[in-house]
Amino acid sequence: MDRLLVRHYVTGQPMELSVSGQTICDLQPVQGLSSSTLADLPWLAPSFCDPQINGAGGISFLHPTRRLTPHGTVPVDPAQALAIVMQQCQAHGIGLFLPTLITASFDTLHQALRTWEKVFEQSPRWRPICPGYHLEGPYLSAEDGPRGAHPRQHVRDPDWDEFQRLQEAANGRIRLMTLAPERPGALRFIEKLTAAGVIAAIGHTAADPGCIRQAVAAGARLSTHLGNGCHAVLPRHDNYLWEQLACDQLWASIICDGFHLPPAVVRCIVRCKTPERLLLTCDASSLAGLPAGRYREWDTDIEVQADGKVALAGTPFLAGSGLFIDTCVANVARDGPLSLAQALDLATTQPRRLLGLPLPELSPGQPAECITFRWQPGGPLTQVRYWNQ
Ligand SMILES: [Zn+2]
Repeated sequence: MDRLLVRHYVTGQPMELSVSGQTICDLQPVQGLSSSTLADLPWLAPSFCDPQINGAGGISFLHPTRRLTPHGTVPVDPAQALAIVMQQCQAHGIGLFLPTLITASFDTLHQALRTWEKVFEQSPRWRPICPGYHLEGPYLSAEDGPRGAHPRQHVRDPDWDEFQRLQEAANGRIRLMTLAPERPGALRFIEKLTAAGVIAAIGHTAADPGCIRQAVAAGARLSTHLGNGCHAVLPRHDNYLWEQLACDQLWASIICDGFHLPPAVVRCIVRCKTPERLLLTCDASSLAGLPAGRYREWDTDIEVQADGKVALAGTPFLAGSGLFIDTCVANVARDGPLSLAQALDLATTQPRRLLGLPLPELSPGQPAECITFRWQPGGPLTQVRYWNQ
């Protein structure tokens, strides 16, 4: 049994937390602590849930049998590969995430989904940690800027038959799909996704404002990493950013790793979307958690910089994130017009609400789907501990 004094992330109230195995045995208010003791206590919050994890620790969800290392690519067993990503995520407080597969050939996507499903069949206790997949691509814009780091030769028009075969390989567990609504057939495709219970998200798009409105009317519910995967220069009024910001039916995910969006843009998005329609993602790539250096990924040279930035080598274009969601929460709590509790909600309850997952309860008898960490205003989250492992 582990016991420790914590502060509840919503109320700030001191509490004694008791965890045995993977269950919260007790959580009771504590009275009479001095203010200096109180200020020193770790915080207690639900675990993070991230809808967009492409991999970590040298593992990519596109390539289940290989691992990037500073010395090149080495073979890896898929079960070990998944364990590496989970370990990396859990070390940053992420209890749940959607393995995310980006643009690739049909064979690569199909093979990867089948392989991961085999791993989950062999280790069913891992399945709730990954309650579905996020398919980001391949039906994205081919234009430089919106396409981001997705390989040009594999972006293509939506194909429902292809999607169904991928969904079959995933045992029906593709839960979120990001696509560009201006692609021919995309609007009908969004309707079919929505009817099938898959969340349709707008992203890596060059759509005009009218097309964004049509995508929302067809059922699109989310803007994927709003403000990224965009042109460097846009018409000042008629563009897809304003339209998505102004649309109250659309939720947005944002990457607040300190590189993808400047603080002023984060504040504007928070105010437009409000905390009710916003969530955070770290968009961790296979390079997250790896030492700085140059790596070969997506048939491209990628650079992991010492400060955690991941970019297409020799360009300013970002290629996913090298940091995790605990960093994003600290940045939003520092730069956004939000409290720590609100910033935490964007990374804990909000993604679960979007995905239709149960919200973790911080109460006795419940699974210890929670984290503790230390934080002072303006600083990072430190000593992050995930308890349900
Ligand atoms: Zn993306």
